[in-house]
Amino acid sequence: MENKYISLVRDNIKNLKPYSSARHEFSGHADIFLDANENPNDHHIYNRYPDPLQTRLKRKISAVKGVKEESIFLGNGSDEAIDILFRIFCEPGKDSVISIEPSYGMYRVAADINNVKIKNVSLTPDFELDVDAILAVAEKSDKILWLCSPNNPSGNTLNPQMILELLDKFPGMIVVDEAYIDFSNEVSMKSFVPERQNLIILQTFSKAWGLAGLRIGMAFAQQWIIEIMNAVKPPYNINSYSQDFVLNQLRKIDDVRKEISKIKQERGRLIERLEELDIVEKIYPSEANFLLIKCKDARNVFKSLQEKGVIVRDRSSVPLCEGCLRVTIGTERENEVFLKEMKILDKQ
Ligand SMILES: *Cc1c(COP(=O)(O)O)cnc(C)c1O
Repeated sequence: MENKYISLVRDNIKNLKPYSSARHEFSGHADIFLDANENPNDHHIYNRYPDPLQTRLKRKISAVKGVKEESIFLGNGSDEAIDILFRIFCEPGKDSVISIEPSYGMYRVAADINNVKIKNVSLTPDFELDVDAILAVAEKSDKILWLCSPNNPSGNTLNPQMILELLDKFPGMIVVDEAYIDFSNEVSMKSFVPERQNLIILQTFSKAWGLAGLRIGMAFAQQWIIEIMNAVKPPYNINSYSQDFVLNQLRKIDDVRKEISKIKQERGRLIERLEELDIVEKIYPSEANFLLIKCKDARNVFKSLQEKGVIVRDRSSVPLCEGCLRVTIGTERENEVFLKEMKILDKQ
């Protein structure tokens, strides 16, 4: 299959001869490792460098996610994958990307850091994709289209048929950030990776898997993209502790599924209770572990909650989210405190 997307990769990256670590060059069996200048005293396992390509962990992720090992990249959070994709495809000061609005703030920050222009295309008022508007502004210099589904902060999944249309018609790479996919009734787009050369899926262990503190994000894409991402990443980007801990967590998938269904149940209960309040004008449908809530005098609600020690995210200055707060689904107890404070504000 001819690959026209390889030409999107920056020349310096195409010609890159990546750093080859000691652990990278040796793959057979040996007992004595004098190749990496480590301290030989093994009071614990952390005297050795971690596996640079996270082989064992990827094998397990492959089994759980149904994605081939060679189609998996692991980053120090999805945020690392986002930055690496900018560095692979976007020439600083020259290239540009397209992002939907409103969406996750890191795409803009990573664009700014890399000196890459970002063009925002508004979603429709009910947060759906506007395919024609995206294609109308698309130019050859737009190397990446950033999509997020379920979208942060709106909570809805984007229409997969529209994403497929964009994969056909958009001339650059398309990233679909699925950080919240485990909370959604919609299936992941990862099954399209084998047939789509310009598709990159991002997922993470930070949300449903409950491992935000470990910093592990995943990218699923065709092998040619994963190989370039591995060449660009720092050699030891995922530490040994995180690799082992996530591997163990993947064996407890049933517990994680139970937590996810509890969170979804709490999401439904919160919606019902919030709908009874006059200060709540609208609750947007959510396929994620948060609710976007339009309130009367949102700024004041935000401040009053904060004074009571309940911290939510004020999104009221974000386009299409005027008057909205974004509230993460907490434990039953946490949600009760939030509801109690909302009720007090409702009566004032
Ligand atoms: C939380 C979040 C992430 C996760 O980032 P990590 O670096 O993996 O913790 C990615 N994308 C979106 C849209 C998010 O909301």
